[in-house]
Amino acid sequence: MLPPSQLVFSFGPSVDHPALGARASRPPHERTAGPRSPLILIRRRLLALYGPQRPVERPDPIDQLINAILSTKTRDEVSFPAFRRLLYRYKSWTAVIDAPVSEIARTIRGVTHHERKAEYVPGALHTIVAQTGSLDLMFLQDWPEDTAMAWLMTLPGAGPKVAATTLNWSLLRKRVLAVDTYLLRVGQRLGLVPANADYNSGFEDFMRLVPADWDADDLFEFHWLMKLHSQRVCAYEHPACFRCPLRDHCPHNATRH
Ligand code: SF4
Repeated sequence: MLPPSQLVFSFGPSVDHPALGARASRPPHERTAGPRSPLILIRRRLLALYGPQRPVERPDPIDQLINAILSTKTRDEVSFPAFRRLLYRYKSWTAVIDAPVSEIARTIRGVTHHERKAEYVPGALHTIVAQTGSLDLMFLQDWPEDTAMAWLMTLPGAGPKVAATTLNWSLLRKRVLAVDTYLLRVGQRLGLVPANADYNSGFEDFMRLVPADWDADDLFEFHWLMKLHSQRVCAYEHPACFRCPLRDHCPHNATRH
């Protein structure tokens, strides 16, 4: 993984590289960029375009975990109804643990890899009960972010994005950034993360750039600003660079030539 100082990045000398280097052995959540982080300018310009994206209602972390597992590689418009069907059918997550996998699969049909996720969901719930004695993740509030991320990622179906959304979007309100395919795409085009970054390395690269004074709500907002931008302007096939407020700093700006 390239350090930020070696990335193609045209926001100018914005990251405190020597300091980052000195902190390279610390967990990513403790390695934060200084007041010149490029994320500050990006957030300011995307805020001007899309407006504030503050959390309205934070779900229970178990709800968020299951919703996140279902939403992996699946659009929200498909995964959230599947989550609602699951809750409507079984009424409680305890009941899901003992439900037949084939029945769960039928209930969540439509989400990507629904048969695999029909095993992940009760598997994750069962693991939580087996390891903690109850279906409650609020104990993670007292854990360091990197330890909580690592523990969640041992659950079936939980990668870095599922773990980060569980920690940041829920009542846990932990200071981690959810890095999904949308953030990876915009981050790669802007040179924030290497072109070959995946969810694991991309998460660490982004977290190194997070300004020290951003709290959990700021990270929530940055995720949604970047996601909106990815969906509405920096699209996969034809990015609309001509109307992008970041184009003067983007190495992939298609209007440059
Ligand atoms: S200039 Fe184009 S490629 Fe760069 S972030 Fe904006 S839309 Fe994406």
